[in-house]
Amino acid sequence: MSAIPLPRGWPVAPRVQSLIDGASPALRAGGVDLPIVNPTTEEPLTVLREADAAEVDAAVASARRAFDSGPWPRMDINARKDLLYAIRDHVRAHAEELAWLESTGAGLPIWRVRDQVQRTARVFEFFAEVASTLHGETYTQTAGWLTYVTREPIGVAALIAPWNAPLSLASMRIATCIPWGNTCVLKPSEYTPLSVRRLVEILHEAGLPPGVVNLVNGRGPVTGAALVDHPGIDLVGFTGGTATGRTIMVAAARRLVPTALELGGKSANIVCDTADLDRALDGSLIGIYANNGQQCLAGSRILVQRSIASEFIDRFVARTKRIRVGDPLSPATEVGPLAFEGHMQRVLDYTKVARADGAQLLTGGARAAIERGWFVEPTAVLAPSNDARVCQEEIFGPFATFLEFDTLDEAIDIANRSRFGLVSYVWSDDLPTTMRCSREIRAGTVWVNTPMMRELRAPFGGYKESGIGRDGPAASVDFFTEQKATIIPIDPPSIPRFGA
Ligand code: NAD
Repeated sequence: MSAIPLPRGWPVAPRVQSLIDGASPALRAGGVDLPIVNPTTEEPLTVLREADAAEVDAAVASARRAFDSGPWPRMDINARKDLLYAIRDHVRAHAEELAWLESTGAGLPIWRVRDQVQRTARVFEFFAEVASTLHGETYTQTAGWLTYVTREPIGVAALIAPWNAPLSLASMRIATCIPWGNTCVLKPSEYTPLSVRRLVEILHEAGLPPGVVNLVNGRGPVTGAALVDHPGIDLVGFTGGTATGRTIMVAAARRLVPTALELGGKSANIVCDTADLDRALDGSLIGIYANNGQQCLAGSRILVQRSIASEFIDRFVARTKRIRVGDPLSPATEVGPLAFEGHMQRVLDYTKVARADGAQLLTGGARAAIERGWFVEPTAVLAPSNDARVCQEEIFGPFATFLEFDTLDEAIDIANRSRFGLVSYVWSDDLPTTMRCSREIRAGTVWVNTPMMRELRAPFGGYKESGIGRDGPAASVDFFTEQKATIIPIDPPSIPRFGA
């Protein structure tokens, strides 16, 4: 890692604005500016101009025009694909700038963010390919009739994204939405707007017609709610917390607007005594502490078979104590600061919650001994039972919770006793064990003997309160396109002649 050069700095605009119809809107008198603070230094980075209802209205009107009369939905698929490839190339050309903005604004380690920027480029290429193979169906079995089914873009999407991986989650939302000819208004998190604003500029620099992707910035209950409630919106794609997802679904239901929700998790990471324990240890550490522990797919409930628990937990704790916490721009850093102060406080409060529930603190549990910045020590606790709050609530920080089990039945039962069902991990070299886990765990993804690996071709999403719908090629076609049946007689059919 030390061979990678330190990234250089990039300019940050003194005020981050929305981007509507390809340009920043005129500043309105009396508008609200929100401070954007560097989580590493606690110093102000810039301010965010919040989009009010009028600005949201302008963004939706732009997306509507681009959909109802603009070139994008009417473009030959090869031309649209060329544009999406140009976006991929522009993202790659600006990869270091995007990585620096993401790492600086969200506190995410630069080595990880560099990978996420490459994935940001890749998703535009991938979904361009998928869109170019879109095809319909024909039915000729009914004698004398031809019926064909075509797919059409739905219209204007509201896309709402969280702060924990701003670029890769916003780009996933955009890249699954626009290739079919839809247009959108994106609202990223108010805490981490820098990289996403630059991404939307880059889309336009690559040649995307104005109005196809509009950006509005601001808080959820202000800007986000105005967007979801807007009558010009045809569907909502949301990535974020379960409570917010519920609010958004209720709002969308009032207008019968379809919603796709990618929500929270409290995923089980099952370590059996039949596992390669060195690999299971590496995988369990990265499964909880990567991305500063702020990941929906974290393996945050680590279930260890009792026969190996004491040795495994000791080794886990020893490694956790050696994790390099520090400046996310330093290539050697493994865990950076949490994204904002309120979130750091919330994660720290879970140490008190754990103690109150009778959990044993194994390591961490406090602010890291770094002069400034919202750093939390990588933390691990041993819970008294799966009913403890630290086993049932999503903490969303560098906070691992251990539980012990005796039999596989018990492990699967614990894994499933959660209101979430996003992902799961199982570590075992015994095939029947892994196959049973795959069959019986109620989660959208089961990773066997590997930390998170995202296969873009496969659906990704959650069971239960972890979401509704999936990201992925087939699911995106279903969510972002309408089906239309056209029915034509081959010979003129006889028609009953009313009133003849
Ligand atoms: P959040 O729900 O607080 O916010 C997500 C987005 O919704 C933000 O842009 C926010 O401004 C907006 N929002 C909030 N209230 C709103 C409202 N009333 N109307 C419209 N928009 C509103 O989530 P967060 O704290 O930003 O992100 C963390 C959560 O996201 C965690 O629960 C995590 O598990 C989840 N997440 C899920 C996935 C997934 O793929 N399943 C991926 C990443 C994060």
